[in-house]
Amino acid sequence: MKTSNFPIFTQKDITSEAELISHKLMIKAGIVRQLTSGLYTWLPLGHRILEKIKMIIREEMNAIGSTEILMPLIQPAELWKESNRWEEYGPELLRINDRHKREFCFGPTFEEVITDLIRKEVSSYKQLPINLFQISTKFRDEIRPRFGVMRAREFIMKDSYSFHSSEQCLNETYKKYSSAYENIFKRLMLNYTIVEADSGNIGGNESHEFHVIADSGEDDLLLDESTQGMNVEIAKIKYGETDVQKIINENNLKHVKGIEVGHIFKLGDKYSSKMKAEITTKESEKINLLMGCYGIGVSRIVAAAIEQNNDEKGIIWPSSISPFDVALIEIDGHKDKLVRNFSAVVYQKMQDSNIDVIYDNRELKLGNKLNDWELMGIPKVLIIGPKETKNNIVTLKDRVKETKTELHVDNICDVILQR
Ligand code: ATP
Ligand code: MG
Repeated sequence: MKTSNFPIFTQKDITSEAELISHKLMIKAGIVRQLTSGLYTWLPLGHRILEKIKMIIREEMNAIGSTEILMPLIQPAELWKESNRWEEYGPELLRINDRHKREFCFGPTFEEVITDLIRKEVSSYKQLPINLFQISTKFRDEIRPRFGVMRAREFIMKDSYSFHSSEQCLNETYKKYSSAYENIFKRLMLNYTIVEADSGNIGGNESHEFHVIADSGEDDLLLDESTQGMNVEIAKIKYGETDVQKIINENNLKHVKGIEVGHIFKLGDKYSSKMKAEITTKESEKINLLMGCYGIGVSRIVAAAIEQNNDEKGIIWPSSISPFDVALIEIDGHKDKLVRNFSAVVYQKMQDSNIDVIYDNRELKLGNKLNDWELMGIPKVLIIGPKETKNNIVTLKDRVKETKTELHVDNICDVILQR
């Protein structure tokens, strides 16, 4: 990729009253732009980061036998009336009418739509288990959209749904999801924790949340050395006490702040019983389907990763989700033919080795280009000027180690590839 085909939208100073460092840096680095409250455009740089995150999620979903589908974003009210959530969900549900005055909503979550699909397609235990996921835009009319994409109204979520004829099978799949989510957050190189959670308005019996630990997080987590942690809602229920400080002191718990990036639920027959989603068992009995659902906040992860990885110069991407592996900066290539030609050779070499490289051929001073790529958080920057061209070398600046080294042209790909 060359910057001539990849517009860079960095900004030195921002006017927006962004509170969080991640929100500020996402604007400065040209990752998103706000359209209006809670709605964001993902710029080229942001789009690449989302795609990297989605790729990791897809790989881990495939690894546990979950298959991708895509459901409509607009959902008919009738289904939501069947589950009672047309009433219960409240004003977060964006309700719309079509030209025939039929009622619809913009999907905030997809339990009704998937249950409707499965009740029509599946009638026997022999067709189970079924394990599906989608990655798509969701809409929740949040009362207070804030912190940029962290709490947006329109956002991207990976949501999975599994269907079973026995409790045991649901439990096994629930465990598989839990470990798939662990793999995902490890591969995203985030510092995370799992906590026992309340199932909120999705409902069901058992649920766990995955949180990225950050002081700016909106959720209070209580951690215990010996057992798994819990969020405050569940702690209040568990200890029968509303004073959180008292719970912490009396039970010797550690209080940390978290950003919820994933949530898994054992729903049981919550939706299938209301929506009459039944199957026939081996013994020819009719039973309600058992169900699990599993969400990941794809767009929120971008902000959460930045909260954990930044310095005074900008973002420092974990290598697994960096929009590029390396930025190649030529110094005054538009004036110096030799530099431009040598840069083109180095660029081609990296492309041949499948290195994700962005070649900065803008007519800008070296300092400005360097500041931009440091702000955008690219782990490695290669610089090529007259000195490098003459000696068949490149200068490598490492964003994390802050080192500067010279590499012979023949060694570039090897060094870049060892992350
Ligand atoms: P929160 O408590 O943060 O409002 P939630 O518990 O309502 O989230 P879930 O229904 O569990 O959200 O949705 C699955 C995931 O989608 C969440 O874990 C979160 O990462 C993400 N998500 C939820 N709401 C938003 C939002 N408004 N903006 C961005 N991501 C969101
Ligand atoms: Mg949740």
